[in-house]
Formats: sequence, structure tokens, C-alpha cells
Amino acid sequence: MVLLDGKAAAEAMKKDIAGEVARWIGECGRKPHLAAIVVGQDPASLTYVRNKENDCRQVGMDSSVYRLSANISQEGLIECVRTLNEDPAVDGLIVQLPLPGHLNEQEIIETIDPSKDVDGFHPVNVGRMVLGLPSFVSATPAGISDLLDYYRIPTRGKECVIIGRSNIVGKPLANLLSRKGPGGDCTVTLCHSQTADLAKVCRRADILVAALGRPLFLKANMVKEGAVVIDVGITRIEDKSTKSGFRLAGDVDFEAVAPRCSYITPVPGGVGPMTRISLLKNTLQAALKRNQ
Ligand code: NAD
Repeated sequence: MVLLDGKAAAEAMKKDIAGEVARWIGECGRKPHLAAIVVGQDPASLTYVRNKENDCRQVGMDSSVYRLSANISQEGLIECVRTLNEDPAVDGLIVQLPLPGHLNEQEIIETIDPSKDVDGFHPVNVGRMVLGLPSFVSATPAGISDLLDYYRIPTRGKECVIIGRSNIVGKPLANLLSRKGPGGDCTVTLCHSQTADLAKVCRRADILVAALGRPLFLKANMVKEGAVVIDVGITRIEDKSTKSGFRLAGDVDFEAVAPRCSYITPVPGGVGPMTRISLLKNTLQAALKRNQ
């Protein structure tokens, strides 16, 4: 069994990105700039945004974070997004999800200028991605695709089963892995909470992706011997023995599943760092496009 070390892969990729950023700065005389909006005080969201700021710094990009009150109105948040849409100094713009319950997430996503939508959530980017046109691809699916490529794991003709049909992970990943060409050509089955006999479907998979957000859900009896297992899940579980008072759990029962796998991602240190790399790549792509 080989551990798919997303942290190591991400560090290697950061060096390449930093080189490209330096070249871009040489040509344009300024740094690519990622702006992030975070609403409220959700600890996980604040950590994610802080990590994204650090990533930008490490590759030589600018970042700015707009921390808004949890009570902000829909109109107030839309106003903030519009201001950043129009700011010529901003190349990429993300709104950290999830938003507090009183806000309409879809309307906010649709307010972001598609040319700055480096999370790839805007319907224009989703639609272009599905059609195989140039677009920003949602960061987690793009990161998984890059991780498979980094470890030279073949996809052509493989059976891929994805558990979870969310708009940000399952659906776009199904599209990426089934598209024609390198990194695609899989036969994809997209499973969800209503799938009948999920364990049987999962056992078909050469590449099995768990993206449902239920800690330790995927058990050894759901995995074919020699499968590649990608664990997208990240759930904070209370753990008084740790300094922070919690630990992160994936969707895969790692101890039981790992011995059956050819490759498997750890949590943390698997898909998470690759997701962050995709955001950097998308921001650089946005900056390159704006300069053309
Ligand atoms: P979501 O809640 O939007 O969707 C979950 C999906 O799982 C749904 O489609 C649902 O049908 C399916 N599901 C739920 N219970 C099921 C069951 N018992 N059997 C089969 N399917 C079931 O989730 P999401 O936003 O896609 O996130 C999924 C997980 O991935 C979460 O833990 C999230 O934190 C994590 N995540 C990690 C990263 C990363 O960078 N590593 C990025 C995004 C999401």
C-alpha cells in the first residue's frame, strides 16, 4: 500500500507555482491577488482562510481577507462581492462556505464575476467545465485529479465510484474523471444517500472516492482488493486529549481499509493540501487571463 501524500505533492507543486508567479510579476509589475470573504466566526472557516493566506504568501501572491459579521444581510454581502468584482487589483475572489443560515449561498455564488471565480462554483464555470471548455474547476476535484496524476495512477478504462453528489465535490469530480483524454476516461458511478446496496457498488471500484462527510463510513468490506481510495471527508471530532480539543476524521476507516488498497490518502495530509494548490493555480490562471 502506498500513501498518497498530498502534503508532499503540494509542496513540490508550490515550487513550480512560485516560479510562474515570479515570472508573472516580472511581466506585470504586481503580484497576483486573491481576495477572500469570510462571514462569522466558524473556527473551521477561519482556519481554512488563514491557510489560504499562508499559501499565497509562500508562492509570492498577495491576499486579502474581508472578515464580515455573522449578522451581515444578504444585500450587505452582495455589495461586498460587487465591490471586489470591480476592484482591478483583485484577480481571484472566494466566499468561504458554508455561510450562516440566513444567507442565500447560491445567490452569492452567482454574484461573483465568473472571471474571478477561482473556486469554480459559478454556474458559468460549472457549465463550461461540463462542456470541456476552459474554466475554473472546483478546487477539490481538480486537486484529486492532480494527485492521481502526480502519482501516475492510470484512469483510462478504470471503474470509479464516488460517494457523495455535492456540487463542489462529487458532481464536478464525476465530470472530470469521465471526460475524454488524460486524467479522464473512467467509467464513473456517482453514489448518494439513496443508492441501493452501496457496499456492492463500491466493491466494483478501481478508484473509490469517499466524499460524504461521515467519519469512518467506508469499511473494509466495501473496498475491492487493490483499489485506490481517496478520502475527501474532513469532520472535526471532539478529542479532549489534543491541544485544540478536536481531531480531524476522514470518511474512511483508514486502519481497516488501508491494508486492502494499492494507494490511499490520509486525513489530514491527503486531499486537503491539494485543494489549496488548486486554488493557487486558479488564481494564477485568473491573473494570467486578466493580463492578456
Ligand atoms: P455535502 O454534505 O454537500 O454532500 C454529501 C453527499 O454525501 C450528499 O450528496 C449525500 O447524498 C451523500 N451522502 C450522505 N450520506 C450518505 C450515505 N449514508 N450514503 C451515501 N451517500 C451519502 O458534502 P461536501 O460538501 O461534498 O463534503 C463532503 C465531505 O468532504 C465533508 O466532510 C467535507 O468537510 C469534506 N470536504 C473536504 C474538502 C477537502 O479539501 N479535503 C473539500 C470539500 C469538502
